[in-house]
Amino acid sequence: MSESLPYNQFSRHLRERFGEKVFKVTLDAGFDCPNRDGTRARGGCTFCDASGSSAQVAPPTVPLLEQLQIGMAGWQRKFGERARKFVAYYQAFTNTHAPLSRLEEVYRIGLEHPDCVALAVGTRPDCVAEPVLELLQQMAHQKYLWVEYGLQSAHDATLQRINRAHSVAEFVDAVRRTRQRGIEVCAHLIHGLPGETPKMMLQSVDLLADLEVEGIKIHSLHILKGSIMAGQYLRGEIELMSEQQYVGSVCDSLERLPPQTWIHRLTGDGLPHLLIAPEWSRHKRAVLTAIEQEMRRRGTRQGSQYLLRSVAGR
Ligand code: SF4
Repeated sequence: MSESLPYNQFSRHLRERFGEKVFKVTLDAGFDCPNRDGTRARGGCTFCDASGSSAQVAPPTVPLLEQLQIGMAGWQRKFGERARKFVAYYQAFTNTHAPLSRLEEVYRIGLEHPDCVALAVGTRPDCVAEPVLELLQQMAHQKYLWVEYGLQSAHDATLQRINRAHSVAEFVDAVRRTRQRGIEVCAHLIHGLPGETPKMMLQSVDLLADLEVEGIKIHSLHILKGSIMAGQYLRGEIELMSEQQYVGSVCDSLERLPPQTWIHRLTGDGLPHLLIAPEWSRHKRAVLTAIEQEMRRRGTRQGSQYLLRSVAGR
């Protein structure tokens, strides 16, 4: 953990591992999702927009290598010669939901690009059969690779309410099988889902702490155009967290996580033009500053409560 930040920032881990800043390029390989195409269910998660929860640099009709090049060029325009190393982030929809031959073809784009130092594969916990994990394991031997699983909540009632179409048990099983193969896992949580209390959100954090996932992303529930929740929100059926509530919840979460867990992200990364609410979530830098300030005000750091829970036998 750096002295300056009260939590273990993943971007710092990448910088240390690769000797310089590493930039993420978000890709859309044109996959569908088992929760949309009927393999598992239809309709999708109620918070998901038409882009499959992605902040892609180009539509899926653009060949993947070209998407990677467009993303890299974008960073180079902004950061000049400092932008030399990249992560290929397979983000949109479910990036293990295709025949193995197609998956291999897609992952090879990132694997074989000389400026790509790592691969991140976003998927669902019900979509990683053993042959898929075997392929990912082979790739992870060639380049740094981690798998990102959406959990969102460790409560089955919430998962049903938001139509995740997988259970908490399936998530736990997928994480165990992935980590048994030596593949790192980053898990996603949403704070402020309908029907969830602050205690429930922290129970979700505790599950991830107990599973010892290598990384975590948290964001507040935000309403995107094109999602089912957009209608629910506009009808007044959904209440969103205030910035202050979210900041407090994130600080509580950081305290409960192991000190070594990598914090990939603490704000949303959807497309800004799709955001309906909350307005405060647009101001990511301000939210991150408020989190740092609140941790300092409390005099705590990531892991402070986790270590106490460990001593107390959890
Ligand atoms: S959030 Fe992910 S799992 Fe849910 S519908 Fe969208 S792409 Fe599918």
